Amino acid sequence: MKTTTRVVVIGGGVVGCSVLHHLTKLGWSDVMLLERSELTSGSTWHAAGGFHTLNGDTNMAALQGYTIRLYRELEELTGMSCGLHHVGGITLADNRDRFDMLLAERAKHRYMGLETEIVGPEEIAKMTDLINLDGIVGALYDPLDGHLDPSGTTHAYAKAARMGGAEIHLHTKVIATTQRPDGTWDVVTDKGTVHTEHVVNAGGLWAREVGAMAGVYLPLHPMEHQYLVTEETPEIYERAEEHPHVMDPAGESYLRQEGRGLCIGFYEQPCRPWAVDGTPWEFGHELLPDDFDKIEQSIEFAYRRFPVLERAGIKSVIHGPFTFAPDGNPLVGPIPGLRGYWSACGVMAGFSQGGGVGLMLAQWMIEGECERDTRALDVARFGDWISPGYTLPKVIENYQTRFSVSYPNEEKPAARPLATTPMYDIFDDMGAVWGAQYGLEVPNYFAAEGEPRYETPSFRRSNAFDATAREVRAVREAAGINEVQNFGKYRVTGENARAWLNRIMAGRIPKPGRIALNPMLSHAGRIIGDFTVACLSDTDFRLTASYGAQAYHMRWFLQNAEPGVTIENISDRSTGFQIAGPKAREILQSCTRSDISDMKFLDVRPLTVGMVDCLVQRVSYTGDLGFEIYCDPMQQRALWSVLWAAGEPHRMKPFGMRAMMSLRLDRFFGSWGREFSPDYTAAETGLDRFIQWDKDFIGKARAEAEHATPPDRTLVHFIVAVEDADVQAYEPVWIDGKVQGFCTSGGYSHHTGQSVAYALIPRACDAPDLSAEIEILGKRCPARKISTDLFDTDGSRMRG
Ligand SMILES: Cc1cc2nc3c(=O)[nH]c(=O)nc-3n(C[C@H](O)[C@H](O)[C@H](O)COP(=O)(O)OP(=O)(O)OC[C@H]3O[C@@H](n4cnc5c(N)ncnc54)[C@H](O)[C@@H]3O)c2cc1C
Repeated sequence: MKTTTRVVVIGGGVVGCSVLHHLTKLGWSDVMLLERSELTSGSTWHAAGGFHTLNGDTNMAALQGYTIRLYRELEELTGMSCGLHHVGGITLADNRDRFDMLLAERAKHRYMGLETEIVGPEEIAKMTDLINLDGIVGALYDPLDGHLDPSGTTHAYAKAARMGGAEIHLHTKVIATTQRPDGTWDVVTDKGTVHTEHVVNAGGLWAREVGAMAGVYLPLHPMEHQYLVTEETPEIYERAEEHPHVMDPAGESYLRQEGRGLCIGFYEQPCRPWAVDGTPWEFGHELLPDDFDKIEQSIEFAYRRFPVLERAGIKSVIHGPFTFAPDGNPLVGPIPGLRGYWSACGVMAGFSQGGGVGLMLAQWMIEGECERDTRALDVARFGDWISPGYTLPKVIENYQTRFSVSYPNEEKPAARPLATTPMYDIFDDMGAVWGAQYGLEVPNYFAAEGEPRYETPSFRRSNAFDATAREVRAVREAAGINEVQNFGKYRVTGENARAWLNRIMAGRIPKPGRIALNPMLSHAGRIIGDFTVACLSDTDFRLTASYGAQAYHMRWFLQNAEPGVTIENISDRSTGFQIAGPKAREILQSCTRSDISDMKFLDVRPLTVGMVDCLVQRVSYTGDLGFEIYCDPMQQRALWSVLWAAGEPHRMKPFGMRAMMSLRLDRFFGSWGREFSPDYTAAETGLDRFIQWDKDFIGKARAEAEHATPPDRTLVHFIVAVEDADVQAYEPVWIDGKVQGFCTSGGYSHHTGQSVAYALIPRACDAPDLSAEIEILGKRCPARKISTDLFDTDGSRMRG
């Protein structure tokens, strides 16, 4: 075994082997994989081997598509068989909501180039006569779905990696990972120590233990999972073609052909976490004891859906553990704050996702960033607030809802509330209906007396509609108030602060007392943040951005840190309120002895409000006159008392996130994670208007190139004629009878009574009076491009 290498991958499951292959594929050959036993000795060997593209997150679906298409290439490259069976798959819907979800997925697939199809019961009956179709509304058919041989596939990845120069050492257990002062690593094994620049944790079932060796907590947990294989059945061996995969969300089951019989697995409600306090090192090639009790109800349901099962004897039971993160997506990428340490863990569908995970990680390591937005799988989407006590109930919830409909407005209840602000009980008494962002409880809207205290999950307009309309009206007619706790906030100080910000941010860094909006770009010119930068003095700046991106942004800041500048995440050390609406100035003025009549749009200044020393920014995401008032969390209630009392004569109302996201539509403001994401560039989304061209900043080369030659697509806005469902994201845009673009976000503008969509379309199609159709839940809705704001067209309300 070499004692020095560029990368050590720990773990020879499907994920570790895929990472190793992709590292060599992208050009790094001095790489090594260490496996404590044989390859596949964790979850991998007992997987059912099924794969599919369906995933509620569009980037995850694309990554799954990549994984599945890779297998043929892998077979050709290595001459080894992955045991591929591309039999196609159907996902059943037995009610309107499930069918809506499939319609929404199908719509997204159109521009992703996935050839899925919506099929009715008659077409399903032509594919298989094993399904009892009573109550089935329809299904999504995906020709790419299928299954493979887990062991053969893992070995094919390993062979491809070896062909690319990688070394693989079996029966070599990593027992410690120690970082040297220069940031490189000593990986200590039972066969000696390897010095390396990069460590990749692909420890699968042992990822927690491997992480702990470097002091890293990875929020994942193993769950027990069981599938049954039947004896041969005539219904199968008499078929001319192999039986398609079937996912039955109502029965929480997946079914496929196995040899001349069937294989069926369950995501049962009475599920069980495994090895809560740590995975035993001696575990490996054994299975867990059969447990029919916990799947009894699932089996009963399956007998009704697939009557053939009742006649088929059970040949074998496979019961084993595999890991999940709290939201079911993998944990991939650089661990924030730890140089050279990478996660490739929590991959619960290794055969649908393993290839894509390997590609993303290899790109990240070698090229510095990935070709697409990886936020859905980025290990940094969970901050340091996450604990094992939170992870466990969330993982159980995720397992139980694995096959449930995921609604765009859904707020899952497990492990809540975790973080609350001093306003929690006050807002709760006022009827707050809560959502969770990055572990924090945030009011989505306020229910009136007698209205339910929960939002109905739906693809269509929910029961939050009336409450949201009331809150929007309050803001536009007088004033609304909500918390600013759920903003990410950073303090940047030091003699080099301005110079550093000038390099990190693409926009103008304001002078003292002023604020500027700033895109933050990656080296390849992708949008990795949209910030508000406020200058208190030349050595003291405040930044605000998305609350959920704290670990993501801090990781970038620290990776690009420089002497003479200190960057602090003060998100939870600074809170307060925003007040917005035509009466906002009057309300704030009545709470302070300072004269604020001269406070212009984009001014920032310290103010004493009531008894509380605050930092006040005149900015607005509602498109209205607005102030953000920041204070110490210990004094938030005192600030609330004075602002609320001052607002009462003006009938100020609290408003939540639903109203905020509706209000922004009136001025076509973009939003982080929607139009502003690493999938897009500043020129595509219009953020280039904030760029300061006469300075050097990260991402300038690409931004300049696109400034000179505009990119092929551009962000436009539409008014859409809809019935009861608005655009969420990724709906296809039909222009001249073809899908030519897709929506980044949208919603209902309560103020103007119109449904709004933001979409990326080819620049060549753009025209002032462009007409298009936007496909929402299977229906092509007429859409008309709009270029003038829907509210405050001259800016007098917001800037006046
Ligand atoms: C019953 C069942 C059915 C499943 N069916 C499917 C399916 O149909 N489709 C699908 O896509 N997925 C399925 N899965 C999930 C799939 O098995 C996992 O997604 C996948 O195996 C994860 O692979 P991995 O490489 O991350 O982890 P693992 O397979 O757990 O591999 C981790 C490896 O790391 C090694 N290792 C750990 N610690 C060390 C150390 N200190 N030193 C050296 N080596 C170490 C281990 O020995 C092991 O080989 C199923 C899982 C189960 C349990």
